[in-house]
Amino acid sequence: MNINKNYLNLEDSYLFSTIAKKVSEYTKNNPDKKLIKLGIGDVTLPLAPVVVEAIKKSADEMGVQATFKGYGPEQGYAFLREAIQKYYERKNVQLVSDEIFISDGAKSDLGNILDIFALDNTVLVPDPVYPVYVDTNTMAGRKIIYADANEKNGFLPLPDENVKCDIIYICSPNNPTGAVYTKDGLKKWVDYALKNDAIILFDAAYECFIKSKELPNSIYEIEGAEKCAIEFCSFSKTAGFTGTRCGYTVVPKALVKQNCSLNKFWLRRQTTKFNGVPYIVQRAAEAIFSQEGQKQISENIQYYSENAKIIADTMDSKGIWYTGGKHSPYIWLKCPNNMKSWEFFDYLLANIAIVGTPGSGFGKNGEGYFRLTSFGNRENTIEAMQRFSKLF
Ligand code: PLP
Repeated sequence: MNINKNYLNLEDSYLFSTIAKKVSEYTKNNPDKKLIKLGIGDVTLPLAPVVVEAIKKSADEMGVQATFKGYGPEQGYAFLREAIQKYYERKNVQLVSDEIFISDGAKSDLGNILDIFALDNTVLVPDPVYPVYVDTNTMAGRKIIYADANEKNGFLPLPDENVKCDIIYICSPNNPTGAVYTKDGLKKWVDYALKNDAIILFDAAYECFIKSKELPNSIYEIEGAEKCAIEFCSFSKTAGFTGTRCGYTVVPKALVKQNCSLNKFWLRRQTTKFNGVPYIVQRAAEAIFSQEGQKQISENIQYYSENAKIIADTMDSKGIWYTGGKHSPYIWLKCPNNMKSWEFFDYLLANIAIVGTPGSGFGKNGEGYFRLTSFGNRENTIEAMQRFSKLF
Protein backbone atom coordinates (compact mmCIF):
# COMPACT_ATOMS: atom_id res chain seq x y z
CA MET A 1 0.00 0.00 0.00
CA ASN A 2 1.29 3.40 -0.95
CA ILE A 3 -0.29 6.68 -0.02
CA ASN A 4 -0.33 9.69 -2.33
CA LYS A 5 2.89 11.33 -1.15
CA ASN A 6 2.20 14.34 -3.36
CA TYR A 7 0.18 15.60 -0.40
CA LEU A 8 3.49 16.10 1.39
CA ASN A 9 4.42 18.63 -1.28
CA LEU A 10 1.47 20.88 -0.41
CA GLU A 11 2.55 24.06 1.26
CA ASP A 12 0.77 24.73 4.52
CA SER A 13 -1.29 27.85 4.20
CA TYR A 14 -0.95 29.93 7.32
CA LEU A 15 -2.55 32.98 5.72
CA PHE A 16 -6.03 32.95 7.23
CA SER A 17 -5.04 31.22 10.47
CA THR A 18 -2.30 33.82 11.09
CA ILE A 19 -4.78 36.62 10.37
CA ALA A 20 -7.27 35.08 12.81
CA LYS A 21 -4.57 34.76 15.49
CA LYS A 22 -3.41 38.35 15.12
CA VAL A 23 -6.99 39.62 15.13
CA SER A 24 -7.88 37.70 18.27
CA GLU A 25 -4.77 39.02 20.08
CA TYR A 26 -5.67 42.55 19.02
CA THR A 27 -9.27 42.27 20.28
CA LYS A 28 -8.08 40.80 23.57
CA ASN A 29 -5.71 43.72 24.11
CA ASN A 30 -8.09 46.38 22.75
CA PRO A 31 -11.58 45.33 23.85
CA ASP A 32 -13.17 48.73 23.23
CA LYS A 33 -11.76 49.32 19.72
CA LYS A 34 -14.15 48.72 16.79
CA LEU A 35 -12.43 46.38 14.38
CA ILE A 36 -13.44 46.56 10.69
CA LYS A 37 -12.80 43.50 8.56
CA LEU A 38 -12.12 44.22 4.90
CA GLY A 39 -10.49 40.88 4.33
CA ILE A 40 -13.58 38.75 3.91
CA GLY A 41 -13.92 36.77 0.71
CA ASP A 42 -17.43 35.63 1.62
CA VAL A 43 -20.60 37.48 0.76
CA THR A 44 -22.64 39.03 3.57
CA LEU A 45 -25.98 40.00 1.99
CA PRO A 46 -28.79 37.42 2.30
CA LEU A 47 -30.30 35.41 -0.55
CA ALA A 48 -32.65 37.32 -2.85
CA PRO A 49 -36.39 36.97 -2.02
CA VAL A 50 -37.10 35.12 -5.33
CA VAL A 51 -34.47 32.54 -4.39
CA VAL A 52 -35.96 32.02 -0.93
CA GLU A 53 -39.43 31.63 -2.48
CA ALA A 54 -38.10 29.02 -4.93
CA ILE A 55 -36.48 27.09 -2.08
CA LYS A 56 -39.73 27.03 -0.09
CA LYS A 57 -41.82 26.04 -3.11
CA SER A 58 -39.49 23.23 -4.16
CA ALA A 59 -39.18 21.99 -0.56
CA ASP A 60 -42.98 21.69 -0.54
CA GLU A 61 -42.83 19.74 -3.84
CA MET A 62 -40.39 17.31 -2.24
CA GLY A 63 -42.94 16.58 0.48
CA VAL A 64 -45.70 15.57 -1.93
CA GLN A 65 -45.80 12.16 -3.60
CA ALA A 66 -46.76 13.49 -7.04
CA THR A 67 -43.89 16.02 -7.22
CA PHE A 68 -41.22 14.28 -5.12
CA LYS A 69 -37.81 13.97 -6.84
CA GLY A 70 -35.18 11.31 -6.20
CA TYR A 71 -31.87 11.17 -8.01
CA GLY A 72 -31.75 13.90 -10.66
CA PRO A 73 -29.74 13.99 -13.87
CA GLU A 74 -26.00 14.09 -12.96
CA GLN A 75 -25.47 16.92 -15.42
CA GLY A 76 -28.23 19.03 -13.87
CA TYR A 77 -31.92 19.57 -14.60
CA ALA A 78 -32.77 20.84 -18.08
CA PHE A 79 -34.69 23.82 -16.62
CA LEU A 80 -31.48 25.23 -15.08
CA ARG A 81 -29.20 24.37 -18.00
CA GLU A 82 -31.64 26.09 -20.36
CA ALA A 83 -31.81 29.18 -18.14
CA ILE A 84 -27.99 29.37 -18.24
CA GLN A 85 -27.98 28.79 -21.98
CA LYS A 86 -30.32 31.81 -22.42
CA TYR A 87 -28.10 33.88 -20.11
CA TYR A 88 -25.15 33.17 -22.43
CA GLU A 89 -27.29 33.99 -25.47
CA ARG A 90 -27.72 37.49 -24.08
CA LYS A 91 -23.90 37.79 -24.16
CA ASN A 92 -23.96 36.57 -27.77
CA VAL A 93 -22.49 33.23 -26.80
CA GLN A 94 -24.36 30.30 -28.32
CA LEU A 95 -24.19 27.10 -26.27
CA VAL A 96 -26.26 23.96 -26.44
CA SER A 97 -27.60 22.89 -23.07
CA ASP A 98 -25.57 19.62 -23.18
CA GLU A 99 -22.44 21.75 -22.96
CA ILE A 100 -23.49 23.01 -19.50
CA PHE A 101 -22.89 20.89 -16.39
CA ILE A 102 -24.43 21.96 -13.07
CA SER A 103 -22.15 21.57 -10.06
CA ASP A 104 -22.06 22.28 -6.35
CA GLY A 105 -19.75 25.23 -7.00
CA ALA A 106 -16.72 26.25 -9.00
CA LYS A 107 -14.15 25.06 -6.47
CA SER A 108 -15.12 21.39 -6.78
CA ASP A 109 -15.15 21.44 -10.58
CA LEU A 110 -11.87 23.36 -10.82
CA GLY A 111 -10.30 20.47 -8.94
CA ASN A 112 -12.37 17.62 -10.43
CA ILE A 113 -11.79 18.62 -14.05
CA LEU A 114 -8.19 17.43 -13.67
CA ASP A 115 -9.50 13.84 -13.78
CA ILE A 116 -9.81 14.12 -17.55
CA PHE A 117 -6.20 15.22 -18.11
CA ALA A 118 -3.06 13.11 -17.95
CA LEU A 119 -0.53 13.60 -15.18
CA ASP A 120 2.36 14.50 -17.47
CA ASN A 121 0.86 17.83 -18.53
CA THR A 122 2.66 21.03 -17.55
CA VAL A 123 0.38 23.51 -15.82
CA LEU A 124 0.73 27.28 -16.10
CA VAL A 125 -0.62 29.25 -13.18
CA PRO A 126 -0.45 33.01 -12.70
CA ASP A 127 1.32 34.33 -9.60
CA PRO A 128 -0.37 35.68 -7.44
CA VAL A 129 -3.21 33.18 -7.65
CA TYR A 130 -6.33 31.64 -6.10
CA PRO A 131 -4.56 28.77 -4.24
CA VAL A 132 -6.92 25.99 -5.42
CA TYR A 133 -5.29 25.81 -8.88
CA VAL A 134 -1.87 25.14 -7.37
CA ASP A 135 -2.95 22.77 -4.62
CA THR A 136 -5.13 20.52 -6.80
CA ASN A 137 -2.30 20.03 -9.30
CA THR A 138 0.24 19.50 -6.53
CA MET A 139 -1.97 16.73 -5.12
CA ALA A 140 -1.92 15.04 -8.51
CA GLY A 141 1.83 15.52 -8.90
CA ARG A 142 1.74 17.68 -12.04
CA LYS A 143 4.55 20.05 -12.95
CA ILE A 144 3.52 23.64 -12.24
CA ILE A 145 5.12 26.71 -13.78
CA TYR A 146 4.19 30.32 -13.10
CA ALA A 147 3.26 33.33 -15.21
CA ASP A 148 4.43 36.48 -13.46
CA ALA A 149 1.67 38.97 -12.76
CA ASN A 150 3.07 42.28 -11.59
CA GLU A 151 2.72 46.04 -11.66
CA LYS A 152 4.37 46.19 -15.10
CA ASN A 153 1.68 44.06 -16.77
CA GLY A 154 -1.15 45.36 -14.56
CA PHE A 155 -1.32 41.90 -12.94
CA LEU A 156 -2.56 40.52 -16.28
CA PRO A 157 0.24 38.36 -17.68
CA LEU A 158 0.18 37.50 -21.39
CA PRO A 159 1.50 34.32 -23.02
CA ASP A 160 5.20 33.91 -23.64
CA GLU A 161 5.84 32.03 -26.88
CA ASN A 162 9.04 30.60 -25.37
CA VAL A 163 7.17 28.90 -22.57
CA LYS A 164 5.54 25.56 -23.34
CA CYS A 165 2.60 24.48 -21.23
CA ASP A 166 -0.49 22.28 -21.63
CA ILE A 167 -3.04 23.49 -19.08
CA ILE A 168 -3.46 27.22 -18.43
CA TYR A 169 -5.47 28.78 -15.61
CA ILE A 170 -6.99 32.20 -16.19
CA CYS A 171 -9.22 33.95 -13.67
CA SER A 172 -10.90 37.16 -14.82
CA PRO A 173 -12.02 39.24 -12.93
CA ASN A 174 -9.18 37.96 -10.83
CA ASN A 175 -9.02 36.87 -7.24
CA PRO A 176 -6.93 38.28 -5.54
CA THR A 177 -6.00 41.20 -7.84
CA GLY A 178 -9.40 42.26 -9.22
CA ALA A 179 -7.72 42.77 -12.62
CA VAL A 180 -9.85 42.01 -15.71
CA TYR A 181 -8.62 40.90 -19.12
CA THR A 182 -9.74 42.82 -22.20
CA LYS A 183 -10.92 40.89 -25.25
CA ASP A 184 -7.50 41.52 -26.83
CA GLY A 185 -5.72 40.06 -23.82
CA LEU A 186 -7.88 36.94 -23.78
CA LYS A 187 -7.51 36.58 -27.54
CA LYS A 188 -3.74 36.32 -27.06
CA TRP A 189 -4.25 33.42 -24.64
CA VAL A 190 -6.75 31.72 -26.96
CA ASP A 191 -4.34 32.07 -29.90
CA TYR A 192 -1.51 30.66 -27.79
CA ALA A 193 -3.64 27.72 -26.64
CA LEU A 194 -4.78 26.90 -30.19
CA LYS A 195 -1.25 27.14 -31.54
CA ASN A 196 0.30 25.05 -28.75
CA ASP A 197 -2.52 22.53 -28.36
CA ALA A 198 -3.09 23.68 -24.78
CA ILE A 199 -6.30 23.91 -22.75
CA ILE A 200 -7.45 27.03 -20.91
CA LEU A 201 -9.35 26.57 -17.65
CA PHE A 202 -11.20 29.86 -17.39
CA ASP A 203 -12.52 30.82 -13.98
CA ALA A 204 -15.38 33.30 -14.39
CA ALA A 205 -16.58 33.20 -10.76
CA TYR A 206 -16.65 37.02 -10.61
CA GLU A 207 -18.02 37.73 -14.11
CA CYS A 208 -21.15 39.41 -12.76
CA PHE A 209 -19.05 42.28 -11.41
CA ILE A 210 -18.08 43.39 -14.93
CA LYS A 211 -19.96 46.55 -15.77
CA SER A 212 -18.52 47.37 -19.21
CA LYS A 213 -19.83 45.74 -22.37
CA GLU A 214 -16.32 46.08 -23.78
CA LEU A 215 -14.88 43.62 -21.27
CA PRO A 216 -15.54 39.88 -21.77
CA ASN A 217 -17.72 38.08 -19.19
CA SER A 218 -17.03 34.75 -20.83
CA ILE A 219 -14.02 33.35 -22.67
CA TYR A 220 -16.42 32.16 -25.37
CA GLU A 221 -16.81 35.78 -26.45
CA ILE A 222 -13.39 35.20 -28.03
CA GLU A 223 -13.35 33.48 -31.40
CA GLY A 224 -11.85 30.00 -31.27
CA ALA A 225 -12.21 29.63 -27.47
CA GLU A 226 -14.75 26.81 -27.91
CA LYS A 227 -11.88 24.73 -29.31
CA CYS A 228 -9.50 25.29 -26.40
CA ALA A 229 -11.31 26.42 -23.24
CA ILE A 230 -13.44 25.12 -20.39
CA GLU A 231 -15.30 27.75 -18.35
CA PHE A 232 -16.20 27.56 -14.66
CA CYS A 233 -18.76 29.77 -13.02
CA SER A 234 -20.54 30.00 -9.74
CA PHE A 235 -23.62 31.52 -8.16
CA SER A 236 -21.60 32.13 -4.97
CA LYS A 237 -20.69 35.72 -5.68
CA THR A 238 -23.41 36.32 -8.29
CA ALA A 239 -26.28 35.55 -5.96
CA GLY A 240 -24.92 34.89 -2.49
CA PHE A 241 -24.81 31.09 -2.90
CA THR A 242 -21.57 30.54 -0.93
CA GLY A 243 -23.52 28.50 1.62
CA THR A 244 -26.23 27.24 -0.74
CA ARG A 245 -23.70 25.75 -3.21
CA CYS A 246 -24.33 25.81 -6.92
CA GLY A 247 -22.29 26.60 -10.00
CA TYR A 248 -21.69 25.30 -13.49
CA THR A 249 -19.01 24.28 -15.93
CA VAL A 250 -19.14 24.69 -19.69
CA VAL A 251 -17.37 22.08 -21.80
CA PRO A 252 -18.00 22.82 -25.49
CA LYS A 253 -18.66 19.99 -27.92
CA ALA A 254 -16.08 21.54 -30.22
CA LEU A 255 -13.42 20.82 -27.61
CA VAL A 256 -11.80 17.77 -29.14
CA LYS A 257 -8.28 16.67 -28.24
CA GLN A 258 -6.46 13.64 -29.66
CA ASN A 259 -9.72 12.72 -31.41
CA CYS A 260 -11.58 12.59 -28.09
CA SER A 261 -14.50 14.79 -27.05
CA LEU A 262 -13.73 16.39 -23.69
CA ASN A 263 -17.45 17.03 -23.31
CA LYS A 264 -18.00 13.25 -23.40
CA PHE A 265 -15.08 12.65 -21.03
CA TRP A 266 -16.47 15.15 -18.52
CA LEU A 267 -20.00 13.71 -18.81
CA ARG A 268 -18.57 10.26 -18.14
CA ARG A 269 -16.57 11.56 -15.21
CA GLN A 270 -19.59 13.29 -13.69
CA THR A 271 -22.00 10.39 -14.21
CA THR A 272 -19.45 8.09 -12.54
CA LYS A 273 -18.36 10.21 -9.59
CA PHE A 274 -21.16 12.74 -9.01
CA ASN A 275 -24.86 12.37 -8.32
CA GLY A 276 -25.93 15.92 -9.04
CA VAL A 277 -26.93 19.04 -7.13
CA PRO A 278 -30.10 18.93 -4.96
CA TYR A 279 -33.34 19.69 -6.84
CA ILE A 280 -34.17 22.42 -4.32
CA VAL A 281 -30.85 24.17 -4.92
CA GLN A 282 -31.24 23.96 -8.69
CA ARG A 283 -34.72 25.52 -8.45
CA ALA A 284 -33.17 28.25 -6.27
CA ALA A 285 -30.51 28.87 -8.94
CA GLU A 286 -33.14 28.90 -11.69
CA ALA A 287 -34.95 31.71 -9.86
CA ILE A 288 -31.88 33.95 -10.29
CA PHE A 289 -32.50 33.98 -14.04
CA SER A 290 -36.10 35.23 -13.88
CA GLN A 291 -36.59 38.92 -14.65
CA GLU A 292 -37.26 39.68 -11.00
CA GLY A 293 -34.35 37.46 -9.95
CA GLN A 294 -31.92 39.33 -12.20
CA LYS A 295 -33.16 42.62 -10.77
CA GLN A 296 -32.79 41.47 -7.17
CA ILE A 297 -29.31 40.00 -7.52
CA SER A 298 -28.07 43.00 -9.46
CA GLU A 299 -29.07 45.20 -6.49
CA ASN A 300 -26.74 43.13 -4.28
CA ILE A 301 -23.91 43.22 -6.81
CA GLN A 302 -24.42 46.96 -7.10
CA TYR A 303 -24.16 47.29 -3.32
CA TYR A 304 -20.80 45.49 -3.26
CA SER A 305 -19.63 47.41 -6.33
CA GLU A 306 -20.37 50.71 -4.61
CA ASN A 307 -18.35 49.57 -1.59
CA ALA A 308 -15.51 48.74 -3.99
CA LYS A 309 -15.78 52.21 -5.52
CA ILE A 310 -15.55 53.82 -2.07
CA ILE A 311 -12.31 51.92 -1.45
CA ALA A 312 -10.92 52.58 -4.95
CA ASP A 313 -11.76 56.32 -4.71
CA THR A 314 -9.85 56.50 -1.44
CA MET A 315 -6.79 54.88 -3.08
CA ASP A 316 -7.10 57.37 -5.98
CA SER A 317 -7.27 60.32 -3.62
CA LYS A 318 -4.15 59.11 -1.79
CA GLY A 319 -2.23 58.31 -4.98
CA ILE A 320 -1.92 54.65 -4.00
CA TRP A 321 -1.42 52.24 -6.93
CA TYR A 322 -4.03 49.47 -7.21
CA THR A 323 -5.78 47.09 -9.55
CA GLY A 324 -9.42 45.98 -9.33
CA GLY A 325 -12.24 47.83 -7.61
CA LYS A 326 -14.04 48.73 -10.83
CA HIS A 327 -15.24 45.43 -12.26
CA SER A 328 -14.44 43.36 -9.23
CA PRO A 329 -15.18 43.14 -5.50
CA TYR A 330 -11.42 43.11 -4.81
CA ILE A 331 -8.97 45.99 -4.52
CA TRP A 332 -5.33 44.98 -4.77
CA LEU A 333 -3.15 47.82 -3.60
CA LYS A 334 0.53 48.47 -3.42
CA CYS A 335 1.50 48.86 0.24
CA PRO A 336 2.43 52.51 0.86
CA ASN A 337 5.99 53.43 1.87
CA ASN A 338 7.38 50.20 0.43
CA MET A 339 5.99 48.22 3.33
CA LYS A 340 5.90 44.44 3.03
CA SER A 341 2.49 42.76 3.03
CA TRP A 342 2.53 41.57 6.65
CA GLU A 343 4.17 44.78 7.83
CA PHE A 344 1.26 46.70 6.29
CA PHE A 345 -1.24 44.28 7.83
CA ASP A 346 0.22 44.94 11.30
CA TYR A 347 0.37 48.68 10.66
CA LEU A 348 -3.32 48.93 9.66
CA LEU A 349 -4.42 46.74 12.54
CA ALA A 350 -2.41 48.60 15.16
CA ASN A 351 -3.23 52.12 13.98
CA ILE A 352 -6.76 52.03 12.58
CA ALA A 353 -8.14 48.60 13.53
CA ILE A 354 -8.67 47.51 9.92
CA VAL A 355 -8.11 43.96 8.75
CA GLY A 356 -7.20 43.07 5.16
CA THR A 357 -5.35 40.22 3.48
CA PRO A 358 -1.57 40.29 2.92
CA GLY A 359 -0.82 39.81 -0.78
CA SER A 360 2.20 37.60 -0.04
CA GLY A 361 -0.26 34.86 0.94
CA PHE A 362 -1.23 34.46 -2.74
CA GLY A 363 2.24 33.92 -4.21
CA LYS A 364 5.71 35.45 -4.33
CA ASN A 365 4.58 38.32 -6.59
CA GLY A 366 2.01 39.29 -3.99
CA GLU A 367 4.76 40.50 -1.62
CA GLY A 368 4.37 44.24 -1.05
CA TYR A 369 0.67 44.16 -2.00
CA PHE A 370 -2.55 43.92 -0.02
CA ARG A 371 -6.12 42.80 -0.78
CA LEU A 372 -9.20 44.65 0.45
CA THR A 373 -12.69 43.36 -0.30
CA SER A 374 -16.05 45.04 -0.75
CA PHE A 375 -18.16 42.27 0.79
CA GLY A 376 -18.59 44.14 4.08
CA ASN A 377 -21.41 46.53 4.90
CA ARG A 378 -21.56 50.13 3.62
CA GLU A 379 -21.28 51.88 6.98
CA ASN A 380 -18.12 49.95 7.90
CA THR A 381 -16.56 50.43 4.47
CA ILE A 382 -17.07 54.21 4.71
CA GLU A 383 -15.73 54.31 8.25
CA ALA A 384 -12.73 52.19 7.31
CA MET A 385 -11.85 54.51 4.45
CA GLN A 386 -12.22 57.58 6.68
CA ARG A 387 -9.75 56.04 9.10
CA PHE A 388 -7.46 55.10 6.18
CA SER A 389 -7.55 58.67 4.79
CA LYS A 390 -6.46 60.11 8.11
CA LEU A 391 -3.53 57.69 8.32
CA PHE A 392 -2.01 58.38 4.87
N1 PLP B 1 -12.85 30.71 -8.10
C1 PLP B 1 -12.39 31.80 -7.47
C2 PLP B 1 -11.42 32.66 -8.16
C3 PLP B 1 -12.81 32.11 -6.17
O1 PLP B 1 -12.33 33.19 -5.55
C4 PLP B 1 -13.73 31.26 -5.53
C5 PLP B 1 -14.20 31.51 -4.16
O2 PLP B 1 -13.80 32.38 -3.44
C6 PLP B 1 -14.17 30.13 -6.21
C7 PLP B 1 -13.72 29.88 -7.49
C8 PLP B 1 -15.05 29.12 -5.55
O3 PLP B 1 -16.37 29.34 -5.78
P1 PLP B 1 -17.49 28.34 -5.24
O4 PLP B 1 -18.06 28.97 -4.01
O5 PLP B 1 -18.47 28.27 -6.37
O6 PLP B 1 -16.88 27.02 -4.96
